[in-house]
Amino acid sequence: MDNQLAAMGQELAELEKQVRTNEKIWSGFRKIEIDAIGAETFHQLVHSVTAGIKSTFRNVDEVSIACLNLDYEIVRIMAHRDVPYEIDESFVMVSDGELYQWFPGSLQPLVGRCDVDTQQRLFPRCNRPVGSMAVSPLIVAGKLIGCLAQGSYDAQHFSAQAGTELLEHLSATIALCIRNTVNIARLERHGLTDPLTDIPNRRFLERRLDEEVERCRRYGHPLTCVMLDIDHFKTINDQYGHSVGDSVLKSVADALSKGLRASDILSRYGGEEFVLLLPETQLVHGAKIARRHHREINKLQFNMRDESRLSITVSAGVAVLEKSSSAAGGDLGEWLLQRSDQALYQAKRQGRNRVIVAG
Ligand code: GH3
Ligand code: MG
Ligand code: MG
Repeated sequence: MDNQLAAMGQELAELEKQVRTNEKIWSGFRKIEIDAIGAETFHQLVHSVTAGIKSTFRNVDEVSIACLNLDYEIVRIMAHRDVPYEIDESFVMVSDGELYQWFPGSLQPLVGRCDVDTQQRLFPRCNRPVGSMAVSPLIVAGKLIGCLAQGSYDAQHFSAQAGTELLEHLSATIALCIRNTVNIARLERHGLTDPLTDIPNRRFLERRLDEEVERCRRYGHPLTCVMLDIDHFKTINDQYGHSVGDSVLKSVADALSKGLRASDILSRYGGEEFVLLLPETQLVHGAKIARRHHREINKLQFNMRDESRLSITVSAGVAVLEKSSSAAGGDLGEWLLQRSDQALYQAKRQGRNRVIVAG
């Protein structure tokens, strides 16, 4: 009896210890995820994740991100030398064959001893033996795109018995951010940027809309769309000239670009019309973001040649796509754009300078 009690007590103490360790890992990973989501470029992303893990976890000595050459885009990104983050230490390009060799069958993290060959591939610049490692697959839309590798000089640090749920969560976020930063880089090449405002154009939005609709259907995350249109813009052109109109458009695009998360997609949808797609965002939260932008744009002031000051207003319509949403013709992206457009139309009809949320 006493023995049983003592054993139970020990088990409880073990469990408690595990819970505390998990809490620490969780809060460390959360911080790293937030930084990853905020990264604007691929270089910044790799830097922030690898440096973040190393500085957060004392026993993790080596961290790298390995990637397939996604549509040849990674090679181009790496060839781009005028970037502020040096990531040669922590980035590795891998082939399909290598990647699948680490994750044969199921796409589960690989945890345990690190052999010499794996060390050379994943931590090529490390000249001390890596005792143990945790290599987690990076997956986007069911496709393996790379892996996140952590190594410790301590052979016991990463053990096969440890749970990997937290690591899988972190890896899912990183994978998504990689996809996003790669897409942003791609954008610069494919004429998917609007030359006046330097933000993505309608063609880019339409492509991304399909992908985000697919993700919304698959994972059940809501996708909010904000459509904004400058009020009486034609009058601005007529009164002050086309170039003033152009600089207003640029300033509005700049204002809308501020505070975007890595996953958000802003585009110049038409002449003086902008669309903001917010993945994984509920309607109420999307409406808040729209109101914030509405206020910020109201604050803009333009100095005119006659010393007067011009301010502008916008109208916005907000709508959401949820897992349960259905569209008559089946095109959910189109349906979402139409719903936001109808809300925008109502905002115009009710007197402009307001945000209307589709009910
Ligand atoms: P509303 O409040 O109903 O939206 O009125 P509005 O005047 O803003 O809308 P309307 O659609 O009547 O006019 C939009 C104007 O935007 C007409 C077009 O000439 C102008 N425009 C479109 N693209 C550009 C551009 O790149 N630069 C400038 N300066 N003007 C543009
Ligand atoms: Mg307008
Ligand atoms: Mg318009």
